[in-house]
Amino acid sequence: MAERSFDCVVIGSGPGGYVAAIRAAQLGMSTAVIEKDAVGGRCLNYACIPAKAVLRAADILTEVREAGEYGIRVGEPEVDFPAVMERRGKVVATLTGGVSGLFKKNKIELIAAEASLGEAGTVRVGDDVLRSKTVILAAGSIPRAIPGVEFGGRVIGTEEAWAFAALPGRLAVIGAGASGAEIASAYARLGSETYLFEMLDRVLPTEDEDISKVVGRGLSRQGINVHTNTPVSDVKSTRTGVSFTIGEEKLTADWLVIAAGRGPDVAALGLDAAGVKLDDRGLIAVDGAQCTSAEGIYAIGDLVAGPALAHKASDEGIIAVESAAGLQTHPLVNEDIPRATFCTPNVGSFGLTEAQARERGFDVVVGKVPYGAVGAGTVYGDRTGLVKVVGERRYGELLGAHIVGTRATELIQELVNVRELEGGYAEVARIVHGHPTLSEAVMEAARDADGWLIHG
Ligand SMILES: Cc1cc2nc3c(=O)[nH]c(=O)nc-3n(C[C@H](O)[C@H](O)[C@H](O)COP(=O)(O)OP(=O)(O)OC[C@H]3O[C@@H](n4cnc5c(N)ncnc54)[C@H](O)[C@@H]3O)c2cc1C
Repeated sequence: MAERSFDCVVIGSGPGGYVAAIRAAQLGMSTAVIEKDAVGGRCLNYACIPAKAVLRAADILTEVREAGEYGIRVGEPEVDFPAVMERRGKVVATLTGGVSGLFKKNKIELIAAEASLGEAGTVRVGDDVLRSKTVILAAGSIPRAIPGVEFGGRVIGTEEAWAFAALPGRLAVIGAGASGAEIASAYARLGSETYLFEMLDRVLPTEDEDISKVVGRGLSRQGINVHTNTPVSDVKSTRTGVSFTIGEEKLTADWLVIAAGRGPDVAALGLDAAGVKLDDRGLIAVDGAQCTSAEGIYAIGDLVAGPALAHKASDEGIIAVESAAGLQTHPLVNEDIPRATFCTPNVGSFGLTEAQARERGFDVVVGKVPYGAVGAGTVYGDRTGLVKVVGERRYGELLGAHIVGTRATELIQELVNVRELEGGYAEVARIVHGHPTLSEAVMEAARDADGWLIHG
């Protein structure tokens, strides 16, 4: 048994763990990262990045198909699915290689093994013990099935759905949240006959209702068979496919993807013995500095409460390490973290929906502008996109913003920044925006909230 010491040991190398490790090294801590699978975590290897690489191929295909509208004649495009997946692999390799390079540059030791917590201030890796004043738990999450359905055979999770060896002929997806909508939107456009089932009454049910409407229409236009208010039951997987029932109807598909949530990957961590407590949802309980109930042990990312998003994991990693180093950290307001869904149409949002703002008793003011209201919407071929700003009348506060349409995932950041810098919708309305850009629709929505919409 070997024993070694570090200033900081990080368990997990996803966007939470690797960013925490780099920040720790920047602050002069000798740092090790322990990873049981692939460097870069699930985000880079199986989730965010592979998903966006495949979605990008679907977006290119859409552009080629619509090229005629811009006076560019092309033949009927052909999907070379193995080549799509080959590029996906290259994108992943480039980015995970980048993380390995950053570890080397920052003199961070990467240990390929499964880790668990040992006695106070120690981490066990096989027979070896690592001593460290600071331990960051960044083990991420694993998929959760739904009651009555188990993973296995042709019933798969979202990570497998972004790693198909062949384009599915018929694909069924349970759950029309961000992941389910992305999978359906990619594969329907690439050529799979696609079904999307949602228990609740609309797609992207946690987004603002106006946004769900536009996305629902967009997904149907892509040929996706969208069924809301629809539980799926009687799932049976065979060697070549899967059968299931919706209402009275029996359906079959090549694959059934369950995109219905994830839970923290805590099984191997030895939390109990180390005195790390869970909250009532089974996530690791932390305070505002990411400290767990055990001294010197921090937890971040998908292991703790808040939206399961890569950028949230990274920010918490920075907070944890800076807090361990005795620095002043910044507060993280989960509601104000930008949310992005990369289906077509794109969705970007933060803060409260209009309904949530009204429920909380705010004197709500709403500004709403379609992309078609500004020149860029017509120039770039998306007049149906929508920017919706939810504000509070008395102090002009930006309570939330919701964008659906081309580049919504990029456009939302402006409003997040304004809120973070304590600006309101009236300020956004008077900031000069470049022309012709889609960001002018953001400015116009803010003007609408402020009562002086120019283009509309
Ligand atoms: C299909 C899909 C698409 C997504 N798309 C997006 C997106 O577009 N944008 C976004 O922001 N978020 C997205 N997410 C969410 C995002 O992937 C997670 O929020 C993010 O990965 C969390 O980062 P993390 O560092 O907490 O954990 P992870 O990325 O899960 O990394 C944790 C790492 O810890 C390792 N590990 C676990 N236990 C141990 C142990 N005991 N010892 C050693 N190593 C261990 C794991 O092997 C893993 O590599 C997506 C998720 C899915 C499933």
